Amino acid sequence: SEEALNHAQRLESVGQLTGGIAHDFNNLLTVIQGNLQVLEELPTLADDPHALQLVDAATRASRRGAELTGKLLAFSRRQVLQPSAVDVGQLLLSLAGMLRRTLDQRIQIAVEPLVDLPPVLADPGQLESTLLNIAINARDAMPEGGTLRFTATPHARLPGALRAELDPQGQADGGFVAIAISDTGSGMSEEVKERAFEPFFTTKEAGRGTGLGLSTVYGFVKQSHGAVTLDSTPGSGTCLTLYIPTQADAQAPASEPVPATQALPP
Ligand code: ADP
Repeated sequence: SEEALNHAQRLESVGQLTGGIAHDFNNLLTVIQGNLQVLEELPTLADDPHALQLVDAATRASRRGAELTGKLLAFSRRQVLQPSAVDVGQLLLSLAGMLRRTLDQRIQIAVEPLVDLPPVLADPGQLESTLLNIAINARDAMPEGGTLRFTATPHARLPGALRAELDPQGQADGGFVAIAISDTGSGMSEEVKERAFEPFFTTKEAGRGTGLGLSTVYGFVKQSHGAVTLDSTPGSGTCLTLYIPTQADAQAPASEPVPATQALPP
């Protein structure tokens, strides 16, 4: 639809702008961090606990800055990805196991039967942190508990509306695996839904949300030549669906299971 196209164009131009800034800023942070490290190791500083404290505070702040620019680079599709064949079924099962161990017990984690999924072509680590980002949002939307459900289904083509946005000439002929992550949480109003993928858009209180979670999801999916859709109903829940391209000449997926070892932020 035209509305979807405008939305995509707006995110595109925000992406170009933030990507340029994030890239230059990241270079500056590298210089700052390098100098702080030299400063920290100066013998004269060893006897000056106050100065050491100041250097330490500056180091932590610049590390935090580097995390933010990293997320902005992901949104603007300038992150370095290393795509390989990923077994989505295995990834979801290991992620679900990790979430069961980590999340509030009142949150049920369901993984639908995963059958006949072809391997997808994506950066395994980034795909996992993308799913984790979405799971953390789902957790935040279900403070009293609920169900977090993962499903994955093969699709020969993108659904019509997405095809119009991504591939108006109809040239892409590869298949996709649709990974749907749904929750039974608060859902989003129209206004929130409209802006959810924008960098720095958050409804969470300061210190709880950066507004960069869904924008990194968006950037990752786009950079992986996939797509993402968002369905949400206030009071009943949210479902994000990621369409990830299958690996064209489907080689056997890596035999190592993809570890889900990342710790959850508080
Ligand atoms: P953050 O989580 O830091 O706020 P995000 O970009 O991940 O940033 O999300 C942006 C906003 O979208 C959130 O502040 C929240 O209002 C809304 N949102 C995201 N995921 C969900 C969800 N599963 N249920 C309800 N609202 C959500």
